[in-house]
Amino acid sequence: MRRLLLPIIALLLPGLASAQMPVSPETRSAVAGIIGDVMVNGQAYEYDRQLADTIGPRLTGSDNYVHAVAWAQDKFRSLGLANVHTESFTIPATWEPETPATGRITAPRIQQLHIYSLGWSPSTPAGGVKGNVVYLEHLTIEGIDAQKAKLAGNIVLMDSKSLGDQPFSQIIKGLDHLNGLGPKALLLVGGPNGIESATALTFDGSLFHSPVAQVGSEDTALIKRMLDNGPVAVEFSFKNRIRKNVKVDNVVAEIPGRDLPNEVVIVAGHLDSWHPATGAQDNGTGVATVIDVARAIKTSGHPPRRTVRFLLVGGEEQGILGSTAYVRQHKADMASIDCVLISDTGAQRAKGWYLMGRDDEREALKNVEPLLAGLGSNDTTPSVEFLFQTDHISFDLLGVPTLVLWNDVDKYFKLHHKASDSFDSVNQADLNQGVATTAATTYAIADSSQPFAPHDTPAQTEEWLKNAKQWDDYQFFKNAGVFP
Ligand SMILES: [Zn+2]
Repeated sequence: MRRLLLPIIALLLPGLASAQMPVSPETRSAVAGIIGDVMVNGQAYEYDRQLADTIGPRLTGSDNYVHAVAWAQDKFRSLGLANVHTESFTIPATWEPETPATGRITAPRIQQLHIYSLGWSPSTPAGGVKGNVVYLEHLTIEGIDAQKAKLAGNIVLMDSKSLGDQPFSQIIKGLDHLNGLGPKALLLVGGPNGIESATALTFDGSLFHSPVAQVGSEDTALIKRMLDNGPVAVEFSFKNRIRKNVKVDNVVAEIPGRDLPNEVVIVAGHLDSWHPATGAQDNGTGVATVIDVARAIKTSGHPPRRTVRFLLVGGEEQGILGSTAYVRQHKADMASIDCVLISDTGAQRAKGWYLMGRDDEREALKNVEPLLAGLGSNDTTPSVEFLFQTDHISFDLLGVPTLVLWNDVDKYFKLHHKASDSFDSVNQADLNQGVATTAATTYAIADSSQPFAPHDTPAQTEEWLKNAKQWDDYQFFKNAGVFP
C-alpha cells in the first residue's frame, strides 16, 4: 500500500500545483512597484473627488451620467490606454426627482411626514395622492388575498414586518399580485425620519405601476398606532423627470497583453449612483479604483502577459443592467475572459476577496496572498450575502471566475444610498489600500503563466448556486429575463 501510494501522490501533486496560479519572481517585482506607486502616487482619491464633487450624482442615463462617461473616457485616453470606447444598452426609463416630495397625515389630525419618492416611481397625479391608509400585514399572495377588499383604491402601507424575511423574488411576486388589485399608491417604511435611503422596486429599469413613497420609520410607526384607533388619511405629492427608452453607455479601455493579448482580465465598477448625495463610495471609489489600477499598471512600463480590460458600467443600481448587457453583447467571448475583478462595497479597508461561491479560487489565490500580506488584504471569504447585488454575477453565471473586493462595510452601510455618501466620508489611505490590493491581484492574474481558475460548466454553476441556497432566487431572476 505504501509503495503504491507514492506514485499516486506524485500523480496528484501536479494537479494540486496547477490549482494554485503561479506567480513568477518577475511578476512579484512588477507588483512591488505597482503597490508602491499606488500608495505614493495613487490618484484614486482625486478621481473620486472629481466624480463626486465636480460631476455629482450620476443616476443612470441622466445628464450627469453622460458627463461621467465623457470624463472617464478622457481619463483613460490621457493615461494612454488602448481601445477606449463606449458600448451602449437601452434602459426602459431614466428617472430623476424634479421636485422634493411633500406629504402629511390629514386625519385623524394633521402632521407633516418625512417622505420621499422611491426610485423609478411615476410622479403623483396633479393635486397629489389623497386617500385612506391600509396597513398590509403580509406581502405574500395569501396575505394580500386576506386583505383584498380593503386594498383596492387605497394607499397601502408596508413596513419590514409586512415584507418578512422572504427572498427578494418572493417580494417581487407579492408586489405584482398587489398591483393587480389596483392600490392608489404604496408607502414603504424607510430609515429613521429624515434619512432617505434610495432604492427602487423594479429590477429592469422600468417604471413602477403606481406612485411609491418612502416614509420615515417613526412616521410609519405613528400611522400604524393611529390605525389601531380608526381611519388614517394622508396626502403626498412629488414630480419626477422621466424619459423612456434611453441609450446608456458603458465605458471600455484596455492595456493590451504583451504575450497573450486575446486572453483578458476585466477590472470593473459601476459609474451610476443614486441621487441623495454624490455616490462618492457607491460607487465613486469603485470607479476611481478601476481608473487608478489602469494608471498604475500603465505607468509601471511592464504590460502583463494578458490584456487588462477596464469596464465602467451603468444601470447597476436598477438591476445590474450595464454589466448584464455587456455579457450579453460578448457572450461568445466569455471563454477568453480569465477573471473579472469588481469593487463595489465602498472604500473602507480591504480584507481580501469575496469568492462568490467559487471555492476553487481560494486555492488559485494561494500564491497571490503573499503579495497582499503587507497590505493586510490577503484573506478570502466564502460569503455569498451579496451574490446577486453587483456586477460580477452575470459573468459568474456563464462560468467566468470572478472576485469582488472584500472590505469592512460597517461605516459604508450607514451612508450607502443616503445623503451622507459624499466625498468627505472617504479615507484616502484606506482607498489606496483597496486600489493597491486590486492592482496587485489584477496584475498577478494577468501576468501568470497559467489561467487563474477553470471556467465552470453550467452543471458546476448549478451545483454551487444550489449549495449556496441561491437556486430559487436565481431561477426567478432568470425567468424574469434579468440574467444573460
Ligand atoms: Zn454599488
